[in-house]
Amino acid sequence: MWHHPATRANVATLVDRGVTIVAPESGRLASGASGDGRLASQERLLGAVRRALGRGGELSGRRVVVTAGGTREAVDPVRYIGNRSSGQMGIAIVRAAIDQGAEVVLIAGPTVAELPSGCEIVQVESAGEMESAVGEAVRGADALVMAAAVADFRPRDASERKIKKQAGEDAMTIELVKTPDILAGVDGSRLLKVGFAAETDDLIENATVKLASKDVAMIVANDAVATIGSDRVVATLLFRDGREPIRLPESAKEETAVRIVEQVVRLLGEREG
Ligand code: C5P
Repeated sequence: MWHHPATRANVATLVDRGVTIVAPESGRLASGASGDGRLASQERLLGAVRRALGRGGELSGRRVVVTAGGTREAVDPVRYIGNRSSGQMGIAIVRAAIDQGAEVVLIAGPTVAELPSGCEIVQVESAGEMESAVGEAVRGADALVMAAAVADFRPRDASERKIKKQAGEDAMTIELVKTPDILAGVDGSRLLKVGFAAETDDLIENATVKLASKDVAMIVANDAVATIGSDRVVATLLFRDGREPIRLPESAKEETAVRIVEQVVRLLGEREG
């Protein structure tokens, strides 16, 4: 039915009139046949609604790159070094930015949270892959929000074969080397950079140092243990422009994401001032 000339002509008319079309998905249909015609998933419908409602929002015409999730650094073909990041914070920021009309590119490491709709998604695994994807995506972007928990170290040499236990050896050593600091490597004069700091100790002091060392306009500081993998967060927003920090109350990550995006809007406006 979706491919019937009459349907195509009617859909084309609706598109001409500016109606947003959420195309059906492919799969098994009620008739027993397979093809295009299944109702789009809830996430895709919500993504389309978000984009439609966000039109004319404060980030209309802006391109925002957001990273989310953790990275996995291969030890061998089946093992990796990873972290407990769920991706929820970055994904909540993606949704909040879409709600303000932004064109969003999400660069997602492996996540537990469902990936959003209404944006371009680039899926990556390692810090190296994330670095290339970010480098590509920030061309022409207005802002980069690095919510991903990027591994700081990776095994120097990932084994091509599964590493086996050796009789008589009770310990093994994996040599780790630093991964590239993606956020620090992006030129902050061209776009607004926002970083995250998840720390277990001296949160504000450590986060303040990152404002300068990573050359970012804003850092979202939060407690690593309480936040990572949780759907709630207690965050403090720290600014490079000398503005007083904003201590946000404990909230759902969706609410904190809205506050973060509000600051992105303000900072972008001031840059153009
Ligand atoms: O240095 P630290 O890992 O605490 O910094 C956290 C911030 O830096 C986050 O915004 C994270 O996404 C980013 N980061 C990065 N590349 C790395 C490590 C962290 O972009 N290799």
